[in-house]
Amino acid sequence: AAGFDDRLAALIRRREATFGAASVLFYKQPLEIMSASGVWMHAADGRRYLDMYNNVASVGHCHPHVVAAIADQAGRLATNTRYLYDVVHTYAEKLLATFPAPLANVALTCTGSESNDLAMRIARAATGGEGFVVTETAYHGNTSAVTDVSPSSFKQRRVPRHVRVVPAPDVYVNETADVGARLAADVAAAAADLEASGIRFAGMLADSIFSSDGIYADPPGFLKPVVEAVHAAGGLFIADEVQPGFGRTGDALWGFARHGVVPDIVTMGKPMGNGFPMGGVVTSPDLMAVFAAETGYFNTFGGNPVAAAAGLAVMEVIEGENLLANARRIGALVRDRLKALGNRHPVIGDVRGAGLFVGLEFSEPGSRTPSPATATAVINGLKDEGVLIGAAGLYGNVLKIRPPLVFAEEHVDVFVDAIDRVLGRI
Ligand code: PMP
Repeated sequence: AAGFDDRLAALIRRREATFGAASVLFYKQPLEIMSASGVWMHAADGRRYLDMYNNVASVGHCHPHVVAAIADQAGRLATNTRYLYDVVHTYAEKLLATFPAPLANVALTCTGSESNDLAMRIARAATGGEGFVVTETAYHGNTSAVTDVSPSSFKQRRVPRHVRVVPAPDVYVNETADVGARLAADVAAAAADLEASGIRFAGMLADSIFSSDGIYADPPGFLKPVVEAVHAAGGLFIADEVQPGFGRTGDALWGFARHGVVPDIVTMGKPMGNGFPMGGVVTSPDLMAVFAAETGYFNTFGGNPVAAAAGLAVMEVIEGENLLANARRIGALVRDRLKALGNRHPVIGDVRGAGLFVGLEFSEPGSRTPSPATATAVINGLKDEGVLIGAAGLYGNVLKIRPPLVFAEEHVDVFVDAIDRVLGRI
């Protein structure tokens, strides 16, 4: 064990020496992960950890079909996007076939941040506006433009002049009869406030399951009046599908489908290549043409042949292994089991979500007062139990339950039994 601790300490020192203050790690005693397979991650300490955090390796870590597709394509051609490649268009056609009209064009990128950055450029070009509305704990990425619309990374920064934040569609702490009407009214007021400040409204960016805000999926359809309010104010609605996309919600491949809306622009990333970095922006040919006429766009790596092969393989696995149905069935089981646990552990305030994206909100017993201390204790306790998980929400008191979509009943038992033991101890 001493040798192991020394090795870990040396790795942390090397990381701090090279990455400096920007080095962000999970846990006080960080984990060194050596490999992963399916829902399990294998650490250098010899233990295996159940991955409840991941939405990158969404079809399961190192899925053999995806690994083979990447290896095969990398062995034949891996280069820029300047020429014609059949696999890229096979992929684009397969991806676009999952979207409703008029969303028929795609621009391929390398990350979710780049996708949102591009979506904002399209919205600016199409509306002539500069102003954006987002929810108060949203995260949309790390470029300078998307950092401006990511309140969860503001820290000491103030909200930029061209941005307005509105409360999340929370129906637990802020009991509201009609959350859609409330959010729509907030968005309309925010857009009007931008205009009153001389800033033309360009649109709203919203994660369609409000992941960083604390996971809000219900009631289905609540985004309808919100999208109408955005359009009435002359803006575009951008659905950030980086977290809910690719089947996580179980309803459909895309989180916005749960609400019966058609966004003007859809952005995606994270699970798209199951670990191979890739992202995309889907929009209508009209919007793509307005944007291209104004600025031109080129991306060296976005939509390179290896990314396309990875993306194609991911979609084949989602279909072939019926992962939407699995997300629906196992996600419902997770929620039922956690609700039952709430009868014995009064810190469990709310259990919510869609498919395999479940939020578990901790509150002070007998009230709806957020309890972030419980979430922190549970996250650390679960690590000791061999379960990796994180938290979200304005107060950081909502466990973000987001395992790979190949999560099975036996894994639900492991997770729920572990959380039961941890809650019993704290
Ligand atoms: N949008 C959302 C909703 C995200 O969760 C993230 C990443 N956490 C991003 C965008 C940015 O994606 P990336 O880190 O791939 O740039």
